[in-house]
Amino acid sequence: MKNKDKDMSEIINHLKTFGFVFQSSEIYGGLANTWDYGPLGILLINNIKKKWWKEFITLEENNVGFDSKILLNSKVWQASGHLSNFTDPLIENKINNKRYRADHIYEELTSQNSSLLTKEQLEKWIQENVKEYDGSKTNWTNIRQFNLMFQTAQGIVEDNKNIIYLRPETAQGIFINFNNVQRSMRLKLPFGIGQIGKSFRNEVTPGNFIFRTREFEQMELEYFTYPDQDEKSYKYYVEKSKNFILSLGIKKESIRLRIHEKEELAHYSKGTTDIEFEFPFGWGELMGIANRTDFDLKSHNKISNTELKYFDQEKNESIIPYVIEPSVGVDRLLLAIIVDSFIKEKLENNDERIVMRLNYEMCPYKACVLPLVKKQGEKAKSIFRNLIKKGLDVLYDETGSIGKRYRRQDAIGTYWCITYDYDSEKDDCVTIRHRDTMKQERIKINNIFDYIINKEEK
Ligand code: ATP
Repeated sequence: MKNKDKDMSEIINHLKTFGFVFQSSEIYGGLANTWDYGPLGILLINNIKKKWWKEFITLEENNVGFDSKILLNSKVWQASGHLSNFTDPLIENKINNKRYRADHIYEELTSQNSSLLTKEQLEKWIQENVKEYDGSKTNWTNIRQFNLMFQTAQGIVEDNKNIIYLRPETAQGIFINFNNVQRSMRLKLPFGIGQIGKSFRNEVTPGNFIFRTREFEQMELEYFTYPDQDEKSYKYYVEKSKNFILSLGIKKESIRLRIHEKEELAHYSKGTTDIEFEFPFGWGELMGIANRTDFDLKSHNKISNTELKYFDQEKNESIIPYVIEPSVGVDRLLLAIIVDSFIKEKLENNDERIVMRLNYEMCPYKACVLPLVKKQGEKAKSIFRNLIKKGLDVLYDETGSIGKRYRRQDAIGTYWCITYDYDSEKDDCVTIRHRDTMKQERIKINNIFDYIINKEEK
């Protein structure tokens, strides 16, 4: 089944039933477009982050990690351009009092890129052509540019001086620490600084479950390079990002690359490539790779009066490096992995099973230990305890028929089911069942851990 034919509400229900994602503040009627991650969801998220860190920090010899704050000095957002440029075109229908992204309406109805139009042209087009929308007659307001940054006040006096913003991206925390990191780690160009952290955007039209929320998490790398090597690094990180997404088990046919047209580039970008994913609600950006040039460092140099520069000893000169930025949202990646792996299968006996065909590294639980009958529980539990002591995420389940227990593990993507049965006491063996093939093998209890690890490596 193609992703576009999958039923989003069925997937959302599934994720709630099995403890991946819950509506946030549910007992109070929820808070629009906010979601909490359950025990299964957070394991999968941790696996995603671990993999990103390994690929973009650990395995890249010149890259290091970082962690900056959500709240920064407001001048950061003046320098970065977010205070003046980080806006969406908001239009309101006075008949149903609903607000929309004007660019989204245009793109939906024409399948053309809205960035080629000025604000006035976009406004005129909508007012003249869209007489009915979202099940209602229309009477459009003018377009208002709406800043997406969340504001709050620091300290006890709520006057203008104390207004601060929740960061809309993690990148700026890295730029303003360029000197600190480069000097303390004695880094030589080219090098990257990456971090994982929460970002906040007061989106005009959040929605599509966890695809677009107002609080989300990003994994961003700022790769600093010589200005004349920017194209090479840009190409390298587009390719690397694509391979990273495929390495999470996402299918080739579920993604595509989209190069931004000149007119739609963000104010800081010389070139941007999006990696898009086919969700049940259509293609959407999953990850973006941008050539941010020297825009950010230059602006911070100017506004802060600090020299954020790199001194090249060989050339005996100071330069402002160019920046290549691969940026991806954890929540969107989680959704993509779930959608891609969520499969309904007809079995030989005409039964149906839901199976999440996650790749091993992503599985929340690598295995589940099951005694065939409850009274074998003690022996089975000691197998379970041995495996968790070795650092594997493993479940134990003794409730319900063995068939139902297998289905439950299939539904949450558990890779192996290990069953302790009547023969186990005599032959010191268990049955190990593979999630995807459902094939079963008999192996020695002492070999379970090695078996799992060896199979993973192949
Ligand atoms: P979009 O066009 O979908 O609004 P964007 O181009 O503004 O996204 P970037 O600023 O490039 O997004 O952010 C980098 C990544 O952060 C995106 O590729 C996406 O994975 C994630 N992201 C951005 N906004 C959100 C959001 N509101 N909710 C969840 N993830 C987001």
